Amino acid sequence: MKWEENVRRVVPYVPGEQPDKPNMIKLNTNECPYPPAPGVQAALAAMQSADMRLYPDPGAEVLIQGLADYYGVKKEQVFVGVGSDDVLSMAYLTFFNGDKPILFPDITYSFYDVWADLYRIPYETCALDGDFHIRPEDYRRPNGGVIFPNPNAPTGVYEPLALVEEILQANRDVVVIVDEAYIDFGGESALPLIKKYDNLLVVQTFSKSRAMAGMRIGFAMGNEKLIRYLSDVKFSFNSYTMNRPTLALGIEALKDRAYFEEITGRIVSTRERVKGELKELGFTFPDSMANFIFASHSRIPARQIFQALKERDIYVRYWDKPRISNSLRITVGTDAEMDSLLAFLREYIN
Ligand SMILES: *Cc1c(COP(=O)(O)O)cnc(C)c1O
Repeated sequence: MKWEENVRRVVPYVPGEQPDKPNMIKLNTNECPYPPAPGVQAALAAMQSADMRLYPDPGAEVLIQGLADYYGVKKEQVFVGVGSDDVLSMAYLTFFNGDKPILFPDITYSFYDVWADLYRIPYETCALDGDFHIRPEDYRRPNGGVIFPNPNAPTGVYEPLALVEEILQANRDVVVIVDEAYIDFGGESALPLIKKYDNLLVVQTFSKSRAMAGMRIGFAMGNEKLIRYLSDVKFSFNSYTMNRPTLALGIEALKDRAYFEEITGRIVSTRERVKGELKELGFTFPDSMANFIFASHSRIPARQIFQALKERDIYVRYWDKPRISNSLRITVGTDAEMDSLLAFLREYIN
């Protein structure tokens, strides 16, 4: 058709499957296996549908102030969005406008190249080394911006802050985005570096460590000027991104630091135990600092294990992509869920 000449064509991002089976074990999209903080349930019960008549606060003031207090920054240094996907997409639109390619790792969050294509931003990928680590020297060439997750996805590999800072030092003239979706599972956040680098944007989410993937809350922190630019673009796109229930429930989750520490701590200890058991079964994996393990088996192809697990309603994530087609990304669930997974694998492999 003639009209198709004017269509913006994209190859969309493919999110993980969201099956809904009664006894499934869902370890495929890095959700938290525990419920959100108890205060969230209470706030949900207290909600009045009559309030929905009114638009939400376009400035998302309560949540922004709550995040500013929690992280010890000014509210002018915080931006919120509909999941970090929304925040990252707005950041691409705002900061990646040069002619030079933006840079990110070859193995990383598969949304990065999709946004680049959507917004027609040129990009180049930098190959991770054989152990899936970033080679900082790759980020010394001319570019239009840098983005990488830390810990990386889907590998779980965490890079020390010295490496993050090395990349920042080599890239003072472009915006550097560190996507910290998994930082609460043991890594050290780059947040303190925003004082020193006005071009650093740190992005985090409530989807993994705060058990609220379904509410869609993401946020970014950085220099006030950076946040102002981001906010200007957001208000030129959609003023009311955060709905009323999301704002009310998000702030409740943030209030309960003890609960947050308890569930992230539990996930970390389950992860460490599962690492040992997977090793015994013949799996290898880069050491993960996230809520998932990216494992390959010495003998059995990943795709085959993936299929076998799926037939038992155990869902993990598999990508048929170069360099990673023999790995499975397994989300860390509850101890009971991991025990079922391990029991199945033990039987299947031996
Ligand atoms: C999960 C994830 C996100 C997006 O999470 P939201 O649910 O949109 O907040 C962003 N980056 C990485 C690396 C992720 O794994």
